[in-house]
Amino acid sequence: MKLPFSKTLDGRREIMIREHLAGRGISDPAVLSAMRTVPREAFVDSNLQDLAYDDNPLPIGDGQTISQPYIVAYMIEALEVTPADTVLEIGTGSGYAAAVLSRMAGHVHTVERLESLARSADRRLRMLGYDNVTVHLGDGTLGWPEQAPYDAVVVTAGAPHVPKQLLGQLTIGGRMVIPVGSSSHMQVLFRVRRTDEHEFRQEELCGVRFVPLIGADAW
Ligand code: SAM
Repeated sequence: MKLPFSKTLDGRREIMIREHLAGRGISDPAVLSAMRTVPREAFVDSNLQDLAYDDNPLPIGDGQTISQPYIVAYMIEALEVTPADTVLEIGTGSGYAAAVLSRMAGHVHTVERLESLARSADRRLRMLGYDNVTVHLGDGTLGWPEQAPYDAVVVTAGAPHVPKQLLGQLTIGGRMVIPVGSSSHMQVLFRVRRTDEHEFRQEELCGVRFVPLIGADAW
């Protein structure tokens, strides 16, 4: 039996792009085109694949989640990624956001503190051919000094404050997008821009709800 396009996963991905992303104000063509090429269903358990294009976070094991597609798009749009950029993501989770970023940047380094998630994301990204993503196991509140500096840093877990080491690993002109809040489950999304060696400009973007960033310089 042939399903109508709107019921296939490709069809649902198109609806996600049109209604949940473009329809809610995501306008950067590079973000929309990256999200059109990455199969979100490949980043969740097979029993959740039918829900892959609902605009919701989904469980990925170990009490963690793959973020809602709109928030992934919103954060990546706010990062202003260009094709030559080296990007650092803190919180690999399923690897989905890293895969989307890899379609827009030169290289993506992504750090995950939980070994089982880091291993499965690495395996998945290799299998799907995202060769410009490197998964690192470690505490991302310390950044990843070996490959610094980064043109863009995105933190996909809620921090109590902006970790100092992450600021120091930004290029001049680099951007960081990070949820910060005094409660471990409710935050405000900030964009921090490094304008000079010692100067950073901070903008408040919107309210968000992320799992906590856990580490030496966080919860
Ligand atoms: N970006 C992910 C995706 O596309 O699936 C979703 C990330 S999930 C909302 C947050 C992730 O941050 C979890 O996998 C969690 O284990 C991780 N995390 C929390 N604290 C961390 C830390 N200090 N360093 C690295 N990862 C951390």
